[in-house]
Amino acid sequence: MANMGVGILKGLRVTLTHFINTYIEDLRYAGRRYFNQDIFEERQGLKATGAYTVQYPEEKIAVPERFRFVPFLVVNDQDMDNPGMEWCTACGICSKVCPPQCIWIVQENDAKTGRPIPRSEAFYIDIDICMNCGYCAEFCPFDSIKMDHDYELASYDRTRSHIHGKDKLNKPFSYWRSIAPTRATEEAEARGGWEHKDVLKAKSKAAAAEAKKVAATTAPAVSTPATSATVEAVEATPAATPVASPGASTPEERKAKREAALAKKRASQESQN
Ligand code: SF4
Ligand code: SF4
Repeated sequence: MANMGVGILKGLRVTLTHFINTYIEDLRYAGRRYFNQDIFEERQGLKATGAYTVQYPEEKIAVPERFRFVPFLVVNDQDMDNPGMEWCTACGICSKVCPPQCIWIVQENDAKTGRPIPRSEAFYIDIDICMNCGYCAEFCPFDSIKMDHDYELASYDRTRSHIHGKDKLNKPFSYWRSIAPTRATEEAEARGGWEHKDVLKAKSKAAAAEAKKVAATTAPAVSTPATSATVEAVEATPAATPVASPGASTPEERKAKREAALAKKRASQESQN
């Protein structure tokens, strides 16, 4: 009974602290409002206190790096290998894990063989259904789909314009690096480079092939003396000379033995006669 109402009082204290801090913070930022990027970041940081009002759309608070709105697809920049290459392989994992099932993917087929290739022919996300959970980005094995920071997507058309195709979804890799530098760096370190896994794999394969080619062209010059020495050593070694086993004999020995046996037989027959 003695603790009755303590929880309510604690709650009221939190509310009152926020209320007072709001005015203290307003005095601290008086006249500067939130137009300065540094102040934006401070005001939205963990240390920010008090409630505050932003005069949107004239004022806009910078969003934190991990902020997530509808997804976009990563495409190689013009200054990268394979510019314009879409990182998405149309594996379909994102569409499977998407809780409200708002992703549609059509896999591309090879024009000659008709077999599926790791590229999407079409990729759609219904942004009205998307709940910005970020599962698609978390599960993508190719780092191809990312959560965007662009939240100003409202329009008067609630039908087609809110179904984003590749024309709206595809964004350059440099954009991802600009909105999420920490995350992009972590992912690149895990991948082993800034580019898509396939590009990095192809590069390392090409480097290995080049190294093999160089080794093959330089091999004779390096190995010639060793080869001659080896041949000489093989010729000189007693092991190179065939050694007859105890039971074996040469053709000449076998011929002589046979002739001796025949002569002995003849001599025996003559003595009997
Ligand atoms: S975005 Fe990623 S998970 Fe989705 S289909 Fe493309 S590669 Fe697969
Ligand atoms: S953010 Fe969530 S709801 Fe939106 S497309 Fe990705 S998985 Fe689906």
